Amino acid sequence: MINVDPLELEKFSQLAHRWWDPGAEFKPLHDINPLRLDYIDGIVGLRDKAALDVGCGGGILAESMAARGARVTGIDLAEKPLKVAQLHLLESGVQVDYRLVAPETLAREMPHRFDLVTCMEMLEHVPDPAATVTACAELARPGGHVFFSTINRNLKSYLLAVIGAEYVLRLLPRGTHDYARFIKPSELAALCRAAGLQVEDIIGMTYNAFAKTYALGPDADVNYILHCRAG
Ligand code: SAH
Repeated sequence: MINVDPLELEKFSQLAHRWWDPGAEFKPLHDINPLRLDYIDGIVGLRDKAALDVGCGGGILAESMAARGARVTGIDLAEKPLKVAQLHLLESGVQVDYRLVAPETLAREMPHRFDLVTCMEMLEHVPDPAATVTACAELARPGGHVFFSTINRNLKSYLLAVIGAEYVLRLLPRGTHDYARFIKPSELAALCRAAGLQVEDIIGMTYNAFAKTYALGPDADVNYILHCRAG
């Protein structure tokens, strides 16, 4: 049994050709990327590190980590976004090894191999996030870093991430996010601990709709990043 929702992959595949248009559907990923990249680089020091980006999509984070000197592998189960990611390397001139493989499968093939594993904005699209967290933990080397980002589950996150982002501000296409799949930081932290990871930090990512800017800070009510280390 593979831990994937085919309807979710289809949603990302249909939009794949627009992945690198900074004004299109994936604009929020482009906008948050410098923040999350600096956060990750500040903790691990990306230069010469072996990085795995799980659910890499069109490669926004994967490429940017490679540009900072990491040796990056990007994996996803949606074919079209991966093709777009592969093609975009020609434009950017960086190197990323893209593969169509599930993290659970790669964990059996290459256990404890990566200095850091990133799994951003993906957990809220999978049927069994616990299995994904476990696979990410197994892919990190002992002492390695694992980063997850996802969406908190509460009234505010429903109003901002679903109603606000999809219906009012139209930052994202309708139906992008399913509230029931949002994950509270406490729940994600528990999944991490169950997978043998040690939770180091939880940081919020907020959107200022007036200034149209994103920032990292203590408010994890809606979007957040969780950083943990493998034992
Ligand atoms: N992590 C990227 C893309 C986020 S979009 C970024 O933050 O920039 C979510 C991605 O997760 C999509 O590319 C989708 O195809 C992928 N995805 C969804 N379910 C998946 C699964 N079960 N296994 C691997 N990738 C998956």
